[in-house]
Amino acid sequence: MSVRNGREFLSIPGPTTVPDEVLGAMHRPAIDIYSGALVDVTESCFADLGGIFGTQGRVYVYAANGHGAWEAALANVLSRGERILVLESGRFAKGWGETAAMLGIAVESIPNDGRRAVDAAALEARLREDTEGAIKAVLVVQVDTASGVVNDIAALRKAMTDAGHDALLMVDVIASLATMPFEMDDWGVDVAVAGSQKGLMTPPGLSFIGAGKKAVAAHAKAGLRTYYWDWTQREGPLHYQKYCGTPPEHLMFGLRKALDMLLEEGLDNVFLRHRLIAGAVRRAVGVWAEGRALEFNIVEPAERADSVTTILMNDPPGPGRLLKYCEENCGVVLGIGIGELDGKAFRIAHMGHVNAPMILGTLGATEMGLVALGVAGARGGVDAAIDYLARSVPA
Ligand SMILES: *Cc1c(COP(=O)(O)O)cnc(C)c1O
Repeated sequence: MSVRNGREFLSIPGPTTVPDEVLGAMHRPAIDIYSGALVDVTESCFADLGGIFGTQGRVYVYAANGHGAWEAALANVLSRGERILVLESGRFAKGWGETAAMLGIAVESIPNDGRRAVDAAALEARLREDTEGAIKAVLVVQVDTASGVVNDIAALRKAMTDAGHDALLMVDVIASLATMPFEMDDWGVDVAVAGSQKGLMTPPGLSFIGAGKKAVAAHAKAGLRTYYWDWTQREGPLHYQKYCGTPPEHLMFGLRKALDMLLEEGLDNVFLRHRLIAGAVRRAVGVWAEGRALEFNIVEPAERADSVTTILMNDPPGPGRLLKYCEENCGVVLGIGIGELDGKAFRIAHMGHVNAPMILGTLGATEMGLVALGVAGARGGVDAAIDYLARSVPA
C-alpha cells in the first residue's frame, strides 16, 4: 500500500530541489567558450556572487563540489607545516580539518559535543595563549549541515580581535549562503567557501570562494598552491583561465538563472522565507518531541539553523524505519544522520527552492510516518506548523 507516486519531495540538505527554470536554462547546446554569451554569464555571475558573499574582494569559481573548494581555500593561503585551528560544531567542520591534515597542515581543534554552537570564549582564550602567532587560520562552518547548528560568525571574529590575534578567518557557508545573512567584509571574514547545490538551487558541481585582502596577501607566500586551484592562474586575461580549462557552461547557465531568481525575490525576502519555513519545522518538531521519542539535536533554540533541522530519534531502532516509510510509501526523501549521528538522527532540509506547501508536505508525510509507526506523541506537529505560518503570514 503506497501513496508515493507523484512528484518526489527531496527533503535532504543537498543537493536541494533544482527549480524547473534552472533546469530549463541548462537545456541548450554547448556554445563557444572564447566569446559571446558565456563570457557575459561569467562576468555577471562573478559580480553577483561577490554581492551575495558581501565582499568587494575576489571571487573564484571551481568545477568541483564543496570538498574541492575546501581544498582550494587551504591550498591558496597556507603552507605545509603551518598550524590552523578548527572550531568543531559537527561533521563538516571536522571534515574540513581532515582535508587540511592530509595537505600536511598541523591541525588543532577546539572540540564540541555536536549539540551546541562554537564557543567564542574558548576561541579567544586559545588565541590569547598563542603569543607567537603560530596559528595561521581559524576554520569554522556557519551552518553545520550534520548537527544543524548555526554559528555566530561576527562574534567569532570579535573574539579573535579581542585576543589581538591576526589569524585568517575561513568560513564554510556551503549550507547557509543565500538562506541567511552572511556579510563577508563587514564581519571580517578572509575566506568564504560555498557550493552550488544548497541555498543556490543549482545542480552540484560548482563551488565558489570569496577572498579578501588579507587572504590575497597570504596567497602570495602560500606554499601549498597547485596549478588547478591557484588563484593567480585564475586571474589571467583569458576567459578560460577563470575556470583553469573548459568552463562548466551548462552549470553556469543554471547558476545565472538561480541568481536571477534569488535577486528578483530579494535576498532579504529569501532570508525571511527561510526563517519562516524553519520556524514551521521547529514548531512541528517541538510538538513531536513532547512524546520524548525524538528531540532536537541542537539543544539551544537560538543556535538552530534556518536551513536544516537535525532530529535525534531516542527510540530504538532509530530513524531507519521512518526514513524508509516516508520514501517508499509517501515519496518524501528525508536526510539521514551523518558522522556520529549515523543511525541516530534524521534531517529535514529547508533550504533553497522551498515554499509553504513543500515544507508542509514534508512535515505532513513525516508525521504520517510517525503515526503509522506508532511513535509516541506523534500528532499535532503539522497543526502547530500551520498555526505558526498562518500567524506569521497574515491575510
Ligand atoms: C554539503 C556541505 C559540504 C560538502 O559539500 P560537497 O559539495 O558535498 O563536497 C561542506 N560543508 C557544508 C556545511 C555542507 O553543507
